[in-house]
Amino acid sequence: IPIDRYRNFSIVAHVDHGKSTLSDRLLELTGVIQKGSKAQVLDRLDVERERGITVKAQTCTMLYNHKGEDYLLHLVDTPGHVDFRSEVSRSYASCKGALLLVDASQGVQAQTVANFYLAYSMGLRLIPVINKIDMDAADIPRSLDQIEHMFELDTSDVVKVSAKTGLNVEQVLPAVVEKIAPPSGIVDSRLRLLLVDSWYDNFLGVVCLVYISDGSLKKGQKIFSAHTDISYDVKEVGIMYPIPLKTDIITAGQVGYMVIGMKKSSEAHIGDTFFTVGQAGEPLAGFEEAKPMVFVGAFPADGVEFKVLDESISHLVLNDRSVTLQKETSTALGQGWRLGFLGTLHASVFQERLEKEHGASIIITAPTVPYRILYNDDTEKIISNPDDFPSVENRQKVSVLQEPFVEAIMTFPQEYLGRVIKLCEAHRGEQVEITYLTTGQVLLKYLLPMAQLVDDFFGRLKGLTQGYASLDYEEAGYRPSDLVKMELLVNGKGIDALAQVMHRSETVNKGKVWVSKFKEYLKYQLFEVVIQAKAGNKIMARETIKAKRKDVLAKLHAADISRRKKLLSRQKEGKKSMKSIGNIQIPQEAYQGFLSRA
Ligand code: GDP
Ligand code: MG
Repeated sequence: IPIDRYRNFSIVAHVDHGKSTLSDRLLELTGVIQKGSKAQVLDRLDVERERGITVKAQTCTMLYNHKGEDYLLHLVDTPGHVDFRSEVSRSYASCKGALLLVDASQGVQAQTVANFYLAYSMGLRLIPVINKIDMDAADIPRSLDQIEHMFELDTSDVVKVSAKTGLNVEQVLPAVVEKIAPPSGIVDSRLRLLLVDSWYDNFLGVVCLVYISDGSLKKGQKIFSAHTDISYDVKEVGIMYPIPLKTDIITAGQVGYMVIGMKKSSEAHIGDTFFTVGQAGEPLAGFEEAKPMVFVGAFPADGVEFKVLDESISHLVLNDRSVTLQKETSTALGQGWRLGFLGTLHASVFQERLEKEHGASIIITAPTVPYRILYNDDTEKIISNPDDFPSVENRQKVSVLQEPFVEAIMTFPQEYLGRVIKLCEAHRGEQVEITYLTTGQVLLKYLLPMAQLVDDFFGRLKGLTQGYASLDYEEAGYRPSDLVKMELLVNGKGIDALAQVMHRSETVNKGKVWVSKFKEYLKYQLFEVVIQAKAGNKIMARETIKAKRKDVLAKLHAADISRRKKLLSRQKEGKKSMKSIGNIQIPQEAYQGFLSRA
């Protein structure tokens, strides 16, 4: 099949609008999978299926006959979440068009808007598809109106389907073939390929999803990365069908996979360009290294072997190229790891995987965003661990403290507008824009500190709007901020693993919550314990746990006064000697309880 009969496309949609269901129908229509086979082939990982999101992009090649001619279609799946925006844009880079999928019962939502703009700005031809027309709550005119007014798309293009029942799904691929341009690569040329995605396969090792921009790729070829300059022998190439299917060659315009003996997923840089060794050329545009934006510490709980956990965490990281991993040591919790993620969802999905595999045997610290510290001598540092925050003594060397901001896009029914604005203001937000949609919905843009998103902003937003709100965001750079490190002190000693950097305005409330929460988990102590929350060098809150007096008198007769006195004084002495040891034992459950999100 010649390149002018290739069509590369993806699906732009808000989560739950039916991307996976529609993909499955298209794969059935083209005979890639059998009807009624395991649902949602393109969402491979369990956690993803449970949460209904696609984290790793899964892609499939299809053969389709349109008006007597065979076409080679590449459906390039994209991660369904904004944390992976730079990866989404690499998927779009391999496409000339996309289906803009809108749930007729919900209308356009935050993610639809954000992904639309990204796809549109990359020059993709968008074909609107209205889904779920089988539902009673479907409002097709409303969706049409939004598509016309918000996206300025021609509504005569719209395909109306039910991905669930299959109604009208057969109209989708003809539209793809007729409206989307073929890829513009040059077949008879030197090899130039784009790395679109990668994952770890237990049998094949690191597998790279690639878009061949020019030339062709076959087994035995020697290629190198424009970014790392490392060269590799091509061991296997093929297409995704929907699992890897070995072929002899993949050529310009195709999306397929290659196995090149990469040892670690971290060698695969999404957006990287590869050339044949000795035939370098112009790298493809748009290479942007994904930076971790959310960090947590992880530590083995009591009685759990570091080595065992280390192996399994390393294995999980092997599977997810975008997680960064470093060893870390805490005085309170011992040896552990510091993990970096692209965003909040990415962090929570990974955390869920860890918890699923290790249950209570792992302690995970509160997430933190990276902070940027500018010094008087013009140097700067990005810190990802509250431990590295400048101490009060070193504060005068610092000229500016900065924290990362995002521009959040939210959509929800108009009646909630007042409450949502209040929420954003309470989270140090700065309003950017309000747009009233035709559907009684509003689209609200706010500049928000990234740290607020990490701190369950979305949960609160959902709560306020009875689940109707949706949220997406884009990074908006660092801004100066009045930051301070808050520590939890137990009898005057700071617990490093619990420290957090935060805005000064939050320290009063957080301080109170911290000390009372920690007290709750440290109930029974043989001697007095003072719990304090300290911000910078200021104590913000304090709780005391009174020594629990063992009831040494319980078995005595009320009349036996002298014996009673003697016992009490003996108990006092005993306590004194323990106190002088001064070192209280904090059970691990206290850390675990304190850090639990509930
Ligand atoms: P994704 O998050 O965009 O991949 O959405 P899914 O394909 O996972 O679909 C989300 C939910 O909507 C699932 O429960 C689907 O069964 C349901 N769904 C998808 N398409 C339709 C449809 O056309 N009609 C109805 N009634 N439900 C649908
Ligand atoms: Mg899905």
